[in-house]
Amino acid sequence: MRAMVLHAAGEPLRLEEVPLPVPEPGQVRLRVSACGVCRTDLHIVDGELPNPKLPLVLGHQIVGRTEDGQRLGVPWLGWTDGTCRFCLSGRENLCESARFTGYHLDGGYADWVVADERYCLPIPDRFDDLEAAPLLCAGLIGYRSLRLAGDAERIGLYGFGASAHIVAQVARHQGRRVFGFVRTGDAVARDFAYELGCEWAGWSDEPPPEELDAAIVFAPVGELVTTALPWLARGGVVVCAGIHMSDIPSFPYELLWQERSIRSVANLTRQDGEEFLALAPHAVRRTQVSIFPLGDANEALNHLRRGEVQGAVVLNLTE
Ligand SMILES: [Zn+2]
Ligand SMILES: [Zn+2]
Repeated sequence: MRAMVLHAAGEPLRLEEVPLPVPEPGQVRLRVSACGVCRTDLHIVDGELPNPKLPLVLGHQIVGRTEDGQRLGVPWLGWTDGTCRFCLSGRENLCESARFTGYHLDGGYADWVVADERYCLPIPDRFDDLEAAPLLCAGLIGYRSLRLAGDAERIGLYGFGASAHIVAQVARHQGRRVFGFVRTGDAVARDFAYELGCEWAGWSDEPPPEELDAAIVFAPVGELVTTALPWLARGGVVVCAGIHMSDIPSFPYELLWQERSIRSVANLTRQDGEEFLALAPHAVRRTQVSIFPLGDANEALNHLRRGEVQGAVVLNLTE
C-alpha cells in the first residue's frame, strides 16, 4: 500500500510502498478514504513532541471502512491501559500509558490503517468522508476545549483555523456569543469568522467590544494567553487547546486575580468523541476543507504552517 512516511524529525515525509498492516486481536483494518491534517502533525514533523514512533505514518483524523463496509473514524486517542488512576476516574485522556494515533501508532496518511476497535468512533451520516475527517480532532478537541470553558456566555476564539471554525458553530448552537480573533491584517480570516457565526471578529491584538467569560487559544502562540487574559471578566478562563505552545510571557498577578484561570486541554476521552459526534449533525452546519492527494502531504502541511487555508486541510486517499 502507499504511505507517507516520516523517518526523522525535520525531514519531509516520503511516499513509499509499505506492507499492508495486519490487525492484531481487537483491532480492525480500515481502508482509509480521508485523513485530516492537524497542527499536531506539524509539531511531530518539526520535532516539538518527544519520542514519536519512527518510522511513522502520521494522521489522526481518519475516516475509513472495514472490510465489510462499516464506516468508522479513528481519532488521536488510540489506546489506554484502562487500569491507572486516570483511566479509572473517567480521565483516560490523561492516561500515562496512552498511545496516540499518528504519534505512537501508525496513522492515516496511508491507504490502510489498523486501529483498536474500542477507540474507533461512528461517523454521522450527514457528513461525507472528506467533510467528516476534521470532526475527529479539530472538532473533537475543540469540543472538549469548549466544554472546559464551562458555561461561559461570551467566548473569544484566538486563532481561527480548523478547530475554531467548527467550535464557533457549536458554541452558537449552544446559544453562546462568539468573538473571533484572527492574525492582524488577515481580512479573509476575519470574514470567514463572521460567516461562521461570530458576532464580532477582529485582530488578535485588538480588544473585544466587551469583556469575555472565556477565551480559547488554538494558535500555538504563548503570547496570546497574556493577550487574552486582560479581556476576561472575573472568574473567566483562558483555555489552551493545543498540544504545544511557545512560552507564555510573564504577567502581573493582578490579571489573574478575581479567580481568573489558565488551563490546558489534553487529548480526548471516548466519551468526548461519542458526545461530540452525536451533537455534530445538529450543531455543525458545514466543515470547510482544502483537499490534497496523499502524495502532496508535505505541501498540505506547508499550507497549514503558513496559515494559507481557511478551515481544515484533508488528504483524499481515494485518488
Ligand atoms: Zn490509564
Ligand atoms: Zn489533532
